[in-house]
Amino acid sequence: MEKQRFDSLSLSPEILKAVAQLGFEEATPIQSAAIPVLLSGADLVGQSQTGSGKTAAFAIPAIEKVDPNSKAVQVLIMCPTRELAEQVANEVHQLTAFKRAIHSVPIYGGASYDRQLFELKKGVQIVIGTPGRIIDHLERGTLKLDQLKVAILDEADRMLDMGFRDDIQKILDATPQERQTVFFSATLSGPIRQLINRYSKNPQTVAIERKDVEAPAIDQWFYEIPPRGKTQSLIRLVDFHGFKLGIIFCNTQRMVDELADALLAQGFSADRLHGGITQAQRTRVMNKFKNSEFEFLVATDVAARGIDVEDLEIVINYDLPHDPEDYVHRIGRTGRAGRKGMSATFVSGRDIYKIQYLEKFTHSRIRKGTIPTPGEVEGKRSELMLEKVRALLSSGNFSDQMQFTDRLMEEGFQATEVCSALFSILLGQDATGGEQQLPPPPKQLPRDEDRNYERERDAGFDQPRRFAPKKSFADRGAVKGAGKPAFQKGVKKGFKSGY
Ligand code: AMP
Repeated sequence: MEKQRFDSLSLSPEILKAVAQLGFEEATPIQSAAIPVLLSGADLVGQSQTGSGKTAAFAIPAIEKVDPNSKAVQVLIMCPTRELAEQVANEVHQLTAFKRAIHSVPIYGGASYDRQLFELKKGVQIVIGTPGRIIDHLERGTLKLDQLKVAILDEADRMLDMGFRDDIQKILDATPQERQTVFFSATLSGPIRQLINRYSKNPQTVAIERKDVEAPAIDQWFYEIPPRGKTQSLIRLVDFHGFKLGIIFCNTQRMVDELADALLAQGFSADRLHGGITQAQRTRVMNKFKNSEFEFLVATDVAARGIDVEDLEIVINYDLPHDPEDYVHRIGRTGRAGRKGMSATFVSGRDIYKIQYLEKFTHSRIRKGTIPTPGEVEGKRSELMLEKVRALLSSGNFSDQMQFTDRLMEEGFQATEVCSALFSILLGQDATGGEQQLPPPPKQLPRDEDRNYERERDAGFDQPRRFAPKKSFADRGAVKGAGKPAFQKGVKKGFKSGY
């Protein structure tokens, strides 16, 4: 399915601004297909899952239909649960950020009537609610639907499963006949079809059809992580495996900026690519990445299209992509030229079910991994350090430094003491037995101001740096021309031990 740019969908400047503020770069397949149909005024049956971007698919055109000069309720969105109603209301709120005269309110059971009554009295054009509470307000006369233009049933199949059929019918019967009616449903069973036939006029069906795609032959893993633990987990995973060249994919420009800032603040050698960055800057970042001048590229799908970097060790799906085809494109960037690549996909909550779908769609296996504990990361670091020292010892490439050892031995220290002191330094301990003081993290880059961003970039804030000797003995600094240190071979062999 073709994905459209938002600016080719005939949307108002305020919606385009809101979409840009949310960091969406291009419309998802369901949005690309449904938005033009809904803008044309036709009724629609959309078949798509949560996570496909369906909320914006129905909310954007509905917002565009609202007359801001009227205070009457013009759009009603029905959801099966309070949680979903909250999520939808949140997205509607963000999408109307620049349409100041348009107001929305969520109404659902279990929440106090006061705020809902206050907002309804003030006049809101968009109401998002669960069927039970909508009926309550209709019966009290606090909600009037006689001027409704658009009725949307989100997750209609779930609402029927939950026994809301009578409520839904009562609600729709209280709305004008000439309204636009929109059904979104994951499945289209008999009862759903009856409801559609009764309440919509010549609806157009929009379903995203997919052809299965072969995934590249690489090691695919997924990790179940609560949303707030993602950055920490990412750092542990990278430290444990000693990855030195990878792409981390996020779904929005906002997330790319947040994550790139977080990685820089942790001393990682990272940079970013997304559609909100000027073309000149993008080309510069891309070239630097191709020359291995930094280690981790944080990017959106759009910005990373066409990147071809050999030797990429890891692709991390920090956000699960909305479109399964993007998954295949993302992970296909590692494991090039017959090398063994690895992909790691982070999932939270209900996303876990999408892994099974991805496995089916790509005819491949995505194994469940566990994020290494801090102790395992430390253990691995010591192992890597020893390997590195061993490799240097067997290469014999250290004679220039013998003078230091000689000097200390002349001062009366034993060779084992000298070595142990050096290991302590490598592991980040100072003379008091405490940890070394770290230099301050690099200045964080401002998120949305591209000019400042470029100025600071030009002043050198994007130089490869990993300040933290405390955490990383590994030579994270410039990897340019460094080749693969011998110890990394050991890391590769050790993949299994972390899962
Ligand atoms: P939904 O399928 O509506 O539950 O959407 C899942 C998530 O995707 C929500 O967090 C949305 O904010 C986000 N989203 C929706 N459309 C886009 C888009 N075009 N680009 C990036 N993220 C999106």
